[in-house]
Amino acid sequence: MLVPADKFRALRRAHADGRQAGMWDALIRAAAANAIAPISGFRVGAVGVGASGAVYAGVNMEFPGVPLSASVHAEQFLVVNALQHGETALRYIAVSAAPCGHCRQFMAELNEVEELRISFGGTPPLSLDQLLPHRFRPSDLLGSGPGLRPLLSGNLKAGGPGSSSDPAPDEALAAVDSSLDPGVLELTQAALAAAARCHAPYSLCRSGVALRLGAELAGPAVSGGYVESVAYNPSLGPLQCALVCMRLRGHADWSRIEEVVLVEDRQASVSQEAVTAATLRAIAPRARLHIVHPR
Ligand SMILES: [Zn+2]
Repeated sequence: MLVPADKFRALRRAHADGRQAGMWDALIRAAAANAIAPISGFRVGAVGVGASGAVYAGVNMEFPGVPLSASVHAEQFLVVNALQHGETALRYIAVSAAPCGHCRQFMAELNEVEELRISFGGTPPLSLDQLLPHRFRPSDLLGSGPGLRPLLSGNLKAGGPGSSSDPAPDEALAAVDSSLDPGVLELTQAALAAAARCHAPYSLCRSGVALRLGAELAGPAVSGGYVESVAYNPSLGPLQCALVCMRLRGHADWSRIEEVVLVEDRQASVSQEAVTAATLRAIAPRARLHIVHPR
């Protein structure tokens, strides 16, 4: 669900004779085939070009047995995909259907959003100002000072003012109960790293999730960090972001999840524990959830 920059340049050259619309349609259709929409049956595909020139795909994911608010929209998936690959900004997004209000607000978090253009259903490229004028902006809560650190800025640490004193993942791991099972400790390290990269500039409540499907899942741990929206409700929880990572690795059977670690501060005013546990009970009843408070 990623097209590297050199391959995308070749693809563009191959469609340089006025067939660009056909190229985007083909990319969107290929993305939408990976959607998981057991509730609506409505598959959404999105593709986005990053500042690096790479192309990222996004799809919608729905989870039976939990509230619809747990759903991941295609545009959100695309942003998390870009984030997972270290992208610093998005320049163009094409979607198979009109972006909903929730996604328009979510995209307000993006770095250099004024450069972003969005099209859907044959529209010309539109700016977010055209799609969501007079919106509630990150600067409405944080002001426009140096603490404002947009999503995909390439400089995400704790995601907000006052974050520089937060411990690095390794430092925080030292404060974790060392009697934990080695496998859980490994997942804890991945969840701490995801929490360190998360975007929580409004609540300053960082959190991350790492999960393991079973012995057959090789490679780095599947993980995701919380992504917050200035309008609060379009925020994407760390479990959802980890499930995006799992989908990117080609997996769609959530019931195969065996072990999950959620890392968050003990006294956090925004806790992911209850919603993570409820979602896992519905989609992965065999999964063991470990809550780790690093300090
Ligand atoms: Zn949406």
